[in-house]
Amino acid sequence: MQPVIGIIPSMDNEEKSYYVHPDNVEAIKKAEGLPIIIPFMEDSEQINQLLQWIDGLYLTGGVDIAPKWYGEEPHPKLGRVDPPRDEFEITVIKKFYALQKPIFGVCRGSQALNVALGGKMFQDIYAQMDGELLQHQQKSLAGYTSHQVKITPGSLLEKLTGKTTLQVNSRHHQANRLVAEELQVSAKAQDGVIEAIEGKGDFFVLGVQWHPESLLAKNDEDSLKIYKGFVQACNHE
Ligand code: MN
Repeated sequence: MQPVIGIIPSMDNEEKSYYVHPDNVEAIKKAEGLPIIIPFMEDSEQINQLLQWIDGLYLTGGVDIAPKWYGEEPHPKLGRVDPPRDEFEITVIKKFYALQKPIFGVCRGSQALNVALGGKMFQDIYAQMDGELLQHQQKSLAGYTSHQVKITPGSLLEKLTGKTTLQVNSRHHQANRLVAEELQVSAKAQDGVIEAIEGKGDFFVLGVQWHPESLLAKNDEDSLKIYKGFVQACNHE
């Protein structure tokens, strides 16, 4: 039996429909996980039942996270937000983390992970970070890499990839700012932007600011190693 990986989708509020880029689903399948897309729920008992049943939680990219979740008012450069997704995702992350079951987040997912556990974000790195920043909203397609990240020695990310630097894609204007107490930085870009975070405990918790699902769609080996590490950690046999 393959581990069941719950994927949190985005909501298109105009069309009133859930959506997930299929590269996310394909990445879980390639890593030999059984993907399921989970709808937003409010009932705590239903959420608890669902979280008992799934083996791993996968957090996808999406729009910005409302700053109220980390105690701030909106900055003028804050983009579109998705309040129902924020509410559901943050609830689910807290519960799943408390169950000590594996979590992997990409892009917005990495930020949601940090915020749910008490961290803070830059609402817009260009407006709020000092110094000259790299281009983090690349103009090329997501299947191509654009900047480098330096991986923290001894980190889970280093163990997964066997590398200390990685070429990644970049499609974000927000980033993690203060990492939650229970998390640590596992990669940074040359300009200081936090590009990956991970748990300190003995279960798999990882967030990357880039989109490994898009790189894996182009058969990137490092991305496959990351997804395989996640899915293997979800395998409880
Ligand atoms: Mn970046």
